[in-house]
Amino acid sequence: MQNEICHYCNGGAFDPLLQINNNTAIVKCRRCKLARTYPYPQFNFESQEKYSKFYLDNEQMFRMFAKSMLDAIKEYKCSGSFLDIGCAVGYVLDEAGELGFDNTNGIELNLDAAAIAKSKGHNVYTQPIEKLNLQNEKFDLIIFNHVLEHVLDMRLILSEIKKVLKKDGIIYCGMPNYNSIMQKLLKKNWYGWGMPDHIWHFDKLTFPSVMENNGFTSIKIVQNGMYYPYSRSLRKNTRATIARIADKLGLGDQVYGVFSKANS
Ligand SMILES: [Zn+2]
Repeated sequence: MQNEICHYCNGGAFDPLLQINNNTAIVKCRRCKLARTYPYPQFNFESQEKYSKFYLDNEQMFRMFAKSMLDAIKEYKCSGSFLDIGCAVGYVLDEAGELGFDNTNGIELNLDAAAIAKSKGHNVYTQPIEKLNLQNEKFDLIIFNHVLEHVLDMRLILSEIKKVLKKDGIIYCGMPNYNSIMQKLLKKNWYGWGMPDHIWHFDKLTFPSVMENNGFTSIKIVQNGMYYPYSRSLRKNTRATIARIADKLGLGDQVYGVFSKANS
């Protein structure tokens, strides 16, 4: 790993965490303690043709996720202007509209998915946030769920988000959490490594520390569990049972946070 640089802190020394296959590993930066995929993956959202089909085929599940996210936030914000970064076909925007947000906006780089979200009356941008020139302090609530782990320049996206968030605005952000029972059990086969797309890997400590170092204040950090469905296979049922117990114990393989804008 000579001449490797951490894109977050510019550190140049890494410790190995897990070998995924012959070409790919998870390593941890000695300076900032963030885990990342080595080598850095190349990913193109626009080219994923099956992306919107995956959402359309699993509508019920994605609506359930959307509702559970909004449930976690509605005590802080339930009206005003809303932005979902990575809005896919717009399920979270639909549910936010139902909840009381009258101004629903999304960012979606996949054009098929963006067109579907637009057709339902949402305002959808198809460029990355740093290219949009959005008005400052525009949004009351911003969600970016399972997005940060895909973004090479986290400082850039977080500074853009901070700019467009209102002074008393709220952020919801979630991602897979590798420091979890399911990851220890499934090791390289754990879903949350997200190969080949995930650049960064977080846990309950590194995630809020990235947010706090980029201008946000943690309101709550929750470690919960991914939904593993039961099936006919005993092995999969064991997995689903362990995932549910881990979720109940707060040792699940996802982490989300609710944040406000830090005073600056
Ligand atoms: Zn680093």
